Amino acid sequence: MNLILMGLPGAGKGTQAERIVDHYGFPHISTGDMFRQAIKDGTALGKQAKAFMDKGALVPDEVTIGIVRERLAKADCKNGFLLDGFPRTVQQAEALEAIMADIEDKIDAVLYIHVDPEKLLARLTGRRICANCGATYHLTFNPPKQEGICDRCGGPLKQRADDSEETVHERLQVNIKQQQPLIDFYQEKGLLKTVNGDQPIETVFQDVSAVLGAFAE
Ligand SMILES: [Zn+2]
Repeated sequence: MNLILMGLPGAGKGTQAERIVDHYGFPHISTGDMFRQAIKDGTALGKQAKAFMDKGALVPDEVTIGIVRERLAKADCKNGFLLDGFPRTVQQAEALEAIMADIEDKIDAVLYIHVDPEKLLARLTGRRICANCGATYHLTFNPPKQEGICDRCGGPLKQRADDSEETVHERLQVNIKQQQPLIDFYQEKGLLKTVNGDQPIETVFQDVSAVLGAFAE
């Protein structure tokens, strides 16, 4: 089963990705990890990507798509994968279709974890991160045992500057604008499966499993 995971920031994509990977044993392929690995392996594409990133420039599509192509061709993707953070544009989605056709496979479903943007705003501004070890908390959903203190290491919990209300609002608007054409693209292809992300994590995962179960049959 080859899946794409989509959702706005804060919709719980990361949590659901972990559950899906645990449960189904697919590799979780995020763009960030893919870039880091290609750079670490010193592949030709990895070197190209690094050159752009070192300049603070956006990695061009041809390089990104090349890295995706190499990653999906690896043996651990034979029985399925969960793609996260790619594609970001319709152009990339079309390139992905070409890659899948080349490896004689296809995307089975695009899981879209939907949460109302208003609710995401509240979710995202409640996020706190440990300044020492990077553990993440949430004032409402995952509060630390002691206010302002990391459970894991005792470090101080901070709100990241980009979790402020203004920044979060802006980020959501940008993402909504970016994702809509992609959602339309997969909707038209009949691949889009929307799951209500405004439920407890367990319930969301049950809904995700129900969608994926239909494909396993
Ligand atoms: Zn900590």
